[in-house]
Amino acid sequence: MPNCRPRRGPGTRGGRFAVVDPATGEAFDDSPDQQADELDAVVGRAQDAWRDWRSDDGARAAALLAAADAVEAAGPGLAPLLTREQGKPLTESYAEVARTAARLRYFAGSAPGPLPITDGRPVLSEIRWRPLGPVAAIVPWNFPLQLASAKFAPALAAGNTVVLKPSPFTPLATRLMVSLISAALPEDVLTVVTGREPLGARLACHPGIRHVTFTGSVPTGRAVAEEAAASLARVTLELGGNDAAILLDDVDVDRIAERLFWSAFRNCGQVCMAVKRVYVPARLHSGVVEALARYAKSAVVGSGLDPGTQLGPVNNAQQLARVEDCTAQALSDGARAAAGGHRLDRPGYFFAPTILTDVPPDSVVVTEEQFGPVLPVLPYGNLDEAIDAANDTRFGLGGSVWGTDLDRAEAVAGRLECGTAWINHHAELSLAQPFAGIKESGVGVAGGPWGLYGNLRPFVVHRPQEEQEEQEEG
Ligand code: NAD
Repeated sequence: MPNCRPRRGPGTRGGRFAVVDPATGEAFDDSPDQQADELDAVVGRAQDAWRDWRSDDGARAAALLAAADAVEAAGPGLAPLLTREQGKPLTESYAEVARTAARLRYFAGSAPGPLPITDGRPVLSEIRWRPLGPVAAIVPWNFPLQLASAKFAPALAAGNTVVLKPSPFTPLATRLMVSLISAALPEDVLTVVTGREPLGARLACHPGIRHVTFTGSVPTGRAVAEEAAASLARVTLELGGNDAAILLDDVDVDRIAERLFWSAFRNCGQVCMAVKRVYVPARLHSGVVEALARYAKSAVVGSGLDPGTQLGPVNNAQQLARVEDCTAQALSDGARAAAGGHRLDRPGYFFAPTILTDVPPDSVVVTEEQFGPVLPVLPYGNLDEAIDAANDTRFGLGGSVWGTDLDRAEAVAGRLECGTAWINHHAELSLAQPFAGIKESGVGVAGGPWGLYGNLRPFVVHRPQEEQEEQEEG
């Protein structure tokens, strides 16, 4: 059932919810737990602000460039706050801030002009791209700023207003970032709302919203699609992944091992398009396991605020429990931990970087998204089997092929059923490329001009050519 009349939570009116530092497991701040009446007011103001914002492309471009400068200049304030609530190493938080500013710059001024079209008949037709109205952007906790900007930068550039809802695990850096951006934009063009559920559900089914753009898990994505169906708002869903990396028999293990390791473990494995399972020719399998285990054992795990930390904690207790469950299940299915395999005996949500071998292919750590610092490495006999195994999933976000003969690797990559395939690396994205998962990994296209058009609708004007010619002659 669509959750379109979510009830008010008991005793939460005017309240706040705690934000926990995952490196300590202790609450260190809080954020407003906003309720239905506040959300109604925010969406109402976003509708009002849209009237002017949509009409002046030049002013929008200038405002978005100013917003990019403001975000970039605020790195020293934003990055440590992001690390504190999310857990990632400080260098990665700075990279996230930089990517956010770059995305604002990329989309500033990108709204398309009118497009004449013809099918040979005597009619002059023209497409004028129009924005949709207030957009709801709902994002998860793994890249709070970067994923939010992937929503609001194209939506704002296209002339929409945006109501942004971060995850309740990571609301703080987003609130700070939006306050900086908002100072460069007209009032109520970009607003952030924070709160526990049902705030996201209320936003997704709000009748004032015309596009719900969501990043998160498959089950929540399904709920969001139902919620948005209440007002038939457009839906874009960027969901989970279970990306496979296939190593070919000519792979240079020493050369690729470090890159492969970090393709799985960056941001503590909490990346939708991280490598989540590795397929290796049987004769190379033990060497690859050993090489990956060496990196897992030597990775510096600690608070993201400590200089030198390479791997921070898992973001929250719930996700840590999931990672522990997946790993325990694999071990009880007969897998062996070549590195890690357990949480660390210290405060906070730390899990030892884990390389699993002898994993049955139907173990949950292979078939589902572990979303944490755990990587199963599976041997294969022939390449067709490996490609079939890589494609045998309800997900379809990305995949990669690793080998020395690049043409052969590319031919294998072409057989992967997913949205993006990489050769000898994984999860690199250009701001200019389309990003779209297939199967249960997503609906709609983000990134580049495709992300912009996802926030626009075609408005078509027809003029009869004969009358036009008469007018010109007369
Ligand atoms: P989640 O689905 O639990 O939550 C995502 C967001 O939805 C949060 O803001 C949450 O508060 C909100 N939400 C929860 N219930 C809702 C409802 N009924 N209606 C509307 N909003 C609701 O995801 P998560 O645990 O925060 O993030 C991890 C997941 O995100 C992983 O599956 C990961 O693969 C996926 N992800 C995908 C991409 C991508 O681009 N494809 C990128 C990053 C993360």
